[in-house]
Amino acid sequence: SINTQRLQALDSAHHLHPFADYRLKDSQISRVIVKGEGAYIWDSEGNRLLDGMAGLWCMNVGYGRKSIADAVHAQMLQLTYYNSFFQTTHVPAVELAAKLVQISPPQFNHVFFVGSGSEGNDTIVRLVRHYWDKQGSPERQVIISRLNSYHGSTMAGASLGGWPSMHKQGGLPIPGIVHIGQPSYLEGGKGKTPEEFGLEAASWLEHKILEVGADKVAAFIGEPVQGAGGVIVPPSTYWPEIQRICNKYGILLVADEVVCGFGRLGHWFGSEYFGISPDLITFAKGVTSGYVPLGGVLVGDRVANALIEKGGEFNHGYTYSGHPIGCVAALENIRILEEEKIVDRVRTDSGPYLQKKFEALASHPLVGSAETIGFLGGLNLVKHKGATVHEHIPFESALSVGMICRAHMFDSGVIMRAIPGDRLLMSPPLTLTHAEIDEMIKLIGLGLDQTLADLKQ
Ligand code: PLP
Repeated sequence: SINTQRLQALDSAHHLHPFADYRLKDSQISRVIVKGEGAYIWDSEGNRLLDGMAGLWCMNVGYGRKSIADAVHAQMLQLTYYNSFFQTTHVPAVELAAKLVQISPPQFNHVFFVGSGSEGNDTIVRLVRHYWDKQGSPERQVIISRLNSYHGSTMAGASLGGWPSMHKQGGLPIPGIVHIGQPSYLEGGKGKTPEEFGLEAASWLEHKILEVGADKVAAFIGEPVQGAGGVIVPPSTYWPEIQRICNKYGILLVADEVVCGFGRLGHWFGSEYFGISPDLITFAKGVTSGYVPLGGVLVGDRVANALIEKGGEFNHGYTYSGHPIGCVAALENIRILEEEKIVDRVRTDSGPYLQKKFEALASHPLVGSAETIGFLGGLNLVKHKGATVHEHIPFESALSVGMICRAHMFDSGVIMRAIPGDRLLMSPPLTLTHAEIDEMIKLIGLGLDQTLADLKQ
């Protein structure tokens, strides 16, 4: 009963999509997605697609969970909305705050709720500056972030992010945000071991601190594994050295766990994978598995205790901070993650299985390298393979081989994301069984074969 052409025509006529060129080309006519179940979605033409991106890195427990829908339904009837401004609270926000404290590392005993990852990072900017103000160091304003990182689309989120294309629009970054490079071994590691390169990339933080002046720096923010900019897996030496440098200069360490949180790396939080202790964590996406928008900032004792002790209002908050519907969805989502031992499985079983299968794709003639960490992965398409990853020869960018390959994968029945540099990213639901992993790898292989066949024509 769905009229695909009608919907596509209305979509083209009236719907401005995020991150889109509004001079639409025919090739950009949208697929209409109508259903999701487990790791699969269906379009209006009946095609079934294995969602290798978990929506936008968020459907951690997969699509169509009735118990989440039931919890949301019951809460809608009980108390559709109330806020937590002005000395009121409600049951879902209290229960969720307590649950998050229980599953997070020991330094976290407080949470500030927001509606999305971008709002979470805006909250970070205001919170760390508020903290230093209360500490009697209002000149500590500068936040150091990383090039190519993604921290959201609000003014502060896009400023923390390191995408020149986003900075150009709207005159960003806002004052007091500076960037250093990413620990991308593929890009910068030539002639070094990954461990050596990890230390070198961390040293860029110390150089930047000294350049800015240590007494002016408020915080460093990074995604444990950089997601949307390319699934950049840091060498093992990187994060411990970043922690050491932050400690040395007394700078707050902020982990943006919007992608890595809630099991994606086989731990509740990605910073646990790397053994670091951030002062603040931003979360969103996987906290509700995307069923309802919700995000937040976990506030560690160092910041929370100082603010509690010093007093004074934090003039910040959103109508939908801790929305009861989002909170019950999160509580049920976390219950599912626990009951089905999904986080443990990613760490000990499905994650290692996915790694073995995905990294074997590196033997395909088109694939220069394939890396995974937990349930994140990336593969680079190359024109010629060299003896090491640093000697591969890339395709000319005008060929858009990555985009062509993504389209072939879509046609094969699997969704991946293509980014500049002919890199394809993967971030599937955490529920994948071994059989589903096998199917996903087979479909990715079909897409690669089809791309190779195209290139030979
Ligand atoms: N931080 C990271 C690491 C992200 O990947 C994203 C979104 O992809 C955000 C923040 C922004 O989250 P939202 O889109 O919910 O505002």
